[in-house]
Amino acid sequence: MIELPEAPHAQEADSIIQLLNTSKKGLNEKDVKLRQTKFGLNEIPDPGGIPLWKIILKQFTNLMVYILLIAALISYFTGNYIDTYVILVIILINALIGFIQEYKAEGAVAALKNLLVPKCKVIRDGKLQTIHSKNLVPGDLISLEEGDNVPADARIIYEKNARTIESSLTGEAAPVDKNTAPLKKEVPLGDKVNMVWKSTFLASGSVKAIVTGTGMNTKIGEIAKSLKNIEPKKTNFQLKTDKLAKQMAFIAIGSAVLLFMVSYFFQDAEISEILLISIAALVSTIPEGLPAVLSIVLAIGSYRMSKSNAIIREISATESLGSVSTIVTDKTGTLTQNTMTIKTVWIPGGKTVKVEGEGWESSGDFVGDKGDVEALNLFLEISAHCHQTAIKKKKKGHFQVTGDPTEAAFLVLANKAGKSKELDILQNNAFDSDLKYRSTLVKKEGKSIRFYIGAPEAILDLSTTSRQKTGDTIKMSNKERDLIHKKISAWSKESYRVLALAQSENASEKTKDDKVQFIGLAGMLDPPRPGVLEAVQSCQRAGIRVIMATGDHAETALAISKKVGIVKEGRDLVYTDSELSKMNEKDFDKAVQNADVFSRLTPLMKLKIAKSLQKNGDLIAMTGDGVNDAPALKQANIGISMGIMGTDVAKDASVMVLADDNFTTIVKAIEQGRIVFNNARRTSFFLVTTNFAEILTLISAVSLGLAMPLTATQILWINLITDGFCDKALATEKGIGDELDRPPIDPKEKILNKTVLPFLAINIFIMVGLSITAFLWYMPQGIEKARTMVFITMGFSQLFNALNMRSLTRSTITLGIFGNKWLNYALLISLAIQMIIIEVPYLSNLFSFRQVSLTELLIWAGLTSFVFWFTEIFKYFKFHHSKK
Ligand code: ADP
Ligand code: MG
Repeated sequence: MIELPEAPHAQEADSIIQLLNTSKKGLNEKDVKLRQTKFGLNEIPDPGGIPLWKIILKQFTNLMVYILLIAALISYFTGNYIDTYVILVIILINALIGFIQEYKAEGAVAALKNLLVPKCKVIRDGKLQTIHSKNLVPGDLISLEEGDNVPADARIIYEKNARTIESSLTGEAAPVDKNTAPLKKEVPLGDKVNMVWKSTFLASGSVKAIVTGTGMNTKIGEIAKSLKNIEPKKTNFQLKTDKLAKQMAFIAIGSAVLLFMVSYFFQDAEISEILLISIAALVSTIPEGLPAVLSIVLAIGSYRMSKSNAIIREISATESLGSVSTIVTDKTGTLTQNTMTIKTVWIPGGKTVKVEGEGWESSGDFVGDKGDVEALNLFLEISAHCHQTAIKKKKKGHFQVTGDPTEAAFLVLANKAGKSKELDILQNNAFDSDLKYRSTLVKKEGKSIRFYIGAPEAILDLSTTSRQKTGDTIKMSNKERDLIHKKISAWSKESYRVLALAQSENASEKTKDDKVQFIGLAGMLDPPRPGVLEAVQSCQRAGIRVIMATGDHAETALAISKKVGIVKEGRDLVYTDSELSKMNEKDFDKAVQNADVFSRLTPLMKLKIAKSLQKNGDLIAMTGDGVNDAPALKQANIGISMGIMGTDVAKDASVMVLADDNFTTIVKAIEQGRIVFNNARRTSFFLVTTNFAEILTLISAVSLGLAMPLTATQILWINLITDGFCDKALATEKGIGDELDRPPIDPKEKILNKTVLPFLAINIFIMVGLSITAFLWYMPQGIEKARTMVFITMGFSQLFNALNMRSLTRSTITLGIFGNKWLNYALLISLAIQMIIIEVPYLSNLFSFRQVSLTELLIWAGLTSFVFWFTEIFKYFKFHHSKK
């Protein structure tokens, strides 16, 4: 069995291949299995998770617990031992609920991380394939291209223009030029230029390398061993909710102090008792659970998003998605299926030849004049060589495409004609989205020849000559150029994506010195994804603007944008990169506001468009897939990368990854984002209304000169059983289905706004009124009975209030009163606990309750239901009525 090489950078590439007992065709599957058992998985354990004991400890080390402990001490020293025990039990139950919810939220976040499994390209048994990076073993031959993350430490055996960014390892931001020659043994890490390191990425070029270290046997693994836990930074949403909790705590403290003073002056009770009651009121009014509940809201939201293929990398994006007002989307693969099929080919001097067949199936005839078909020889040779893709047939009609579908289309074209890769390949220059072409250097009949495929404008700019159907070469005159442009334009209008082919005989090392000869055009079709048109229409209903930003030709872009409904009648305006770059700032901003389609864009222009939109106050979601897209993805409020076709670099720069690369997924995520905001609001409103209605009941009763309507433990208990379950249940609301019928949520919109006021007013009015009525009514039967009835009144009204909060604008009855399963459970549990502590003799003694008859219960259930009916009436007049 092999050992890991000591200093791979000091060895010849060939001796590394020998040492690791592999070859230029890679390992075979049997070797891989053996090595996996010896070296384990290529993984670095995640230090990010919070250990269990810390979550438990956290439940006991917060202000709320300290306040409760003080209360427990006070009751202990004043001889109220029962109260002491009850308070201690409350601390325990609170901690248990807190622990469960935090543990679950942690788990949900961890599960999200697992959805983004890193993948890499490896050559095994001579075949290029994509595997999970964790399955790499030492000796594996990996293939890296621009934008790929390096999956393991590896010794380079082949490279072309390769540069990596190693800042994650060395802190150095400048790209490092790579090389294959052996180095001296003692060189610093940053100078070992014939190695690539796990956790860095390829900024340009391509690399083939032999894996020399995996998992913890990598440089980054060594660092990870010594790494301490880093406190994660608070997100915007967390800051927003922390602030909300603080403000509410402030009001709570104010009301508790007020309660204390009023009781002090109006009641002749012991000061310790008043203090205890005030503390209890304080504890139940402070929304201690709020930040935790809101993080549950986010966790549930992001879980649901992941179910519909939108994977959230930054949890706060879950909420910001609800405020997206503009989506800037790619065309190819996002709006379209990315199953490119070349349908037409043409060479100068000839007529168009149609190609039959669909998708990745390599069969189909060439239909056209015999002479035209025969003249395609060189065209097909370029198609067969100028790509870096592989197509594997999986099941019938199912294919696995490795590499860029645009290039795979050329492979399929060559296959249809029975042409295969026969020439020696000297170099491969991957597609560059700035240059807009790719090239391959081959050896043919002793000569070095470079084949080009790319955007027709880019290829035409390079070409100095044009090869005719007859085989003759003519100068690229203006006339010839016009002829080609006409063809491009005609095809583009039919929504063909047009690419040009070219070659350079006697190619030199650098492409820029080549003399390029134009060879022909290929037109490929890439149909829109099903459902995209409907998704674009929902965006328009939802007040979200959709902008297409593509590298493709203007006419093709416009044709596709019409098919998917992005371009509305009379707005079929399209700007190209070069037009935009000539504009001054004012015109540019105007152009960005006026047009919905931008074509032939460079990544830099995408960044400028993003900035211009943001200047106008838009919150933008923007898609991207390449290395160069990273700055724009970071600039956008919601950077979205492609899970299938995107580079690792783009994924790392984004906050959301589309597992299916599909535009409709973005729209679903936005809808879910709006639900998340509504749920945050729902739970907050619920906590605020119940808590303040509670404390105001106490204050009012005392101000009226009555006795204290509840004891301290009763107050604490009612807080526990009503808030504790219902708020979490409200966090699971699924949305009503009208979320996309209204404009986006203003990003500055606070969670608590003045819409809460009517709910507060209704609640306080009814709860205070009923509680005091109950208190006075039952007083003749003794204060304990009176307090029991106040307890029931408050408990019941809060359950009804939870039902109110299922929607802040719609009638709960029309929603279906019991439509939220979790809320039903919460209501049942709360109700059951209330009944048990009142009706079970031992417990009711503990809380100083008196038994209540069924009739009494039913009467007060009926009376407290006014909390529900009044809110229904309010919603009807405020929202339903005014809509008509
Ligand atoms: P888009 O994918 O939206 O069309 P890109 O920036 O990816 O935008 O591509 C710009 C243009 O470059 C394409 O319209 C096409 O003409 C050409 N092109 C795209 N991918 C490749 C590729 N892999 N090889 C050669 N040319 C390509
Ligand atoms: Mg593309």
